[in-house]
Amino acid sequence: MEREVQRVRKAFQSGRSRPLRFRLQQLEALRRMLQEREKDILAAITSDLCKSELNVYSHEVVTILLEIDLVLEKLPEWVTARPAKKDLFTILDKAYVQPEPLGVVLIIGAWNYPFVLTIQPLIGAIAAGNAVIIKPSELSENTAKILSKLLPQYLDQELYIVTNGGVEETTELLKQRFDHIFFTGSPSVGKIVMEAAAKHLTPVTLELGGKNPCYIDKDCDLDVACRRIAWGKYMNCGQTCIAPDYILCEPSLQNQIVQNIKEIVKEFYGENVKESPDFERIINLRHFKRIISLLEGQKIAFGGETDEATRYIAPTVLTDVDPETKVMQEEIFGPILPIVPVKNADEAIKFINEREKPLSFYVFSHNKKVPVGWEVIMENTVLILFLINVPV
Ligand code: NAD
Repeated sequence: MEREVQRVRKAFQSGRSRPLRFRLQQLEALRRMLQEREKDILAAITSDLCKSELNVYSHEVVTILLEIDLVLEKLPEWVTARPAKKDLFTILDKAYVQPEPLGVVLIIGAWNYPFVLTIQPLIGAIAAGNAVIIKPSELSENTAKILSKLLPQYLDQELYIVTNGGVEETTELLKQRFDHIFFTGSPSVGKIVMEAAAKHLTPVTLELGGKNPCYIDKDCDLDVACRRIAWGKYMNCGQTCIAPDYILCEPSLQNQIVQNIKEIVKEFYGENVKESPDFERIINLRHFKRIISLLEGQKIAFGGETDEATRYIAPTVLTDVDPETKVMQEEIFGPILPIVPVKNADEAIKFINEREKPLSFYVFSHNKKVPVGWEVIMENTVLILFLINVPV
């Protein structure tokens, strides 16, 4: 590991990654890789997550192509020095802000969107003139393999390398000094990464998970709310960091929500969800068993069917969920949607604020004026998606 990192650092120190022209060339090569090897890339991700090619393309490829186009267009402007306001200490100087590469960046990826979660930060790191070591998730092994095969065919082989492995290899890697670490994964591993980075005072970007609440107000278009929640929850079999994790609503709305989601699931995936090419599977047996255990003792309003051999868990809704039960203690990361009844919006706000910061939260209401109290959650939340729902 140490030798690998040294080799990449030496390549960075050569200055080769800095010129704008070089960065643009590398990004164009990355785009070419996506275009020329699209079939191989789609096949690898499809086999890791039992996904349809259409879903893989829309979830993992389109965003990257758009991002590369954006960066190619904006980079000349982004790398240009900008004049800075002078103060007493710089009054006699020429003051400007010049963006500079940091050095060697480590990107650690997660398995749930295994391609986009490693390539997107790679685009940023190349654009900023850095050298990069990419460590994809070992759980999405086919994507990890295709990344190690294709990237060296298209990018500079000394500046950008892929290293594969699990906990042991990543632990070893984290002992090395980097100039930035971009980590996507769970909060518990995020703490390990941050601790390792602190030893070298390395700055980190932590893209973590959490339990994302939805609040469904009495005054809203229930059909639109349920449609959006079902789409976000069951996409990728619930294995999405910003997927709605649970619903908070007044008790009187519960039955109607269940009925709506049931019908929407049928519309999305057909009578037999198991046969649908649009419904994915749980990544491995460990996660399958973990998710199944969250159903114990719960009232299943619909769904709940499972098949261990194919790691299938049906889109499921739980009602009258007790906040003290296991399903409300951890990020679900699967197609199970608990409904926790609350008296009103004030109780929902209190409920959310008493818990760990969510990554996102969703409000469905016709009331365009943000209700008093939601701002408090906003301050506590990493990403807010405020969905005031208007009938469509
Ligand atoms: P994870 O934390 O288990 O693993 C992420 C990476 O860390 C993997 O590459 C893995 O090899 C490595 N790793 C695992 N254990 C390690 C250890 N003990 N020491 C060092 N490295 C270790 O996460 P995951 O299961 O791959 O991904 C799911 C999590 O990621 C969920 O919490 C999800 O919400 C989150 N996520 C967040 C975003 C975001 O953009 N915020 C996007 C996708 C996923």
